[in-house]
Amino acid sequence: MAIAAVTVALAPAPALAAPAEEEVDCTKVKCVALTFDDGPGKYAGTLLDTLKKYDAKATFFLEGQYVKSRPSYVKRMAAEGHELGNHSYKHPDFTKLTAPAIRSEIQRTNDEIKKAAGVEPKLLRPPYGMSDLTTSEVAAEFGMPIILWTGGSADWSSKNEEAIKKQTLKVAKQNSIVLMHDWVKQTVDAMPSIIRTLQKNGYHLVKVSDIVKHENLKAGDTFPLPEGWDK
Ligand SMILES: [Zn+2]
Repeated sequence: MAIAAVTVALAPAPALAAPAEEEVDCTKVKCVALTFDDGPGKYAGTLLDTLKKYDAKATFFLEGQYVKSRPSYVKRMAAEGHELGNHSYKHPDFTKLTAPAIRSEIQRTNDEIKKAAGVEPKLLRPPYGMSDLTTSEVAAEFGMPIILWTGGSADWSSKNEEAIKKQTLKVAKQNSIVLMHDWVKQTVDAMPSIIRTLQKNGYHLVKVSDIVKHENLKAGDTFPLPEGWDK
């Protein structure tokens, strides 16, 4: 009896958690990628605490200007196994910029992320999800695919904890990429409950890379393709 009790107590050893996380195969298990844009926002620390508590991973599409002003959050994101993506330096609409201007937005942001966390982002999400051929060509130069989302939490418009939870759970399906913002306080407040519900429903909270791994994306490709686009 005593031995059995000890075995049970030792079962969820932290050493087991990390490798299991790396090996999530989203073709075999239920996966959702929560993505947080425009940050690191001022509530990023609380969000990181929540993600850590529930052993959940997320993807942060960061703005260079905030990476520069809040580098410690970015360092922590990388250290705790989250994915870092590029979301421009100051959030302009890329479809209104020239190629050199887009290039500069991406490069400056990559540089800040590298400086803060020592890693190079491999994914691009243009501001507002707006891109065109020029954007794709510049993304290709950086070796990055363009990552949009399959569903949005509408958090920036509702700013309501219950509404954010309801909408997020509605769009979170197998291999969903969900758009959220860590500058919306209500999103960060709703996150423990959202994560608990998703995990109870059998979802692994994974990085975008885990979900697009099997898509054979090339640099400059867009995923998911907006509705009406031909593959
Ligand atoms: Zn944005």
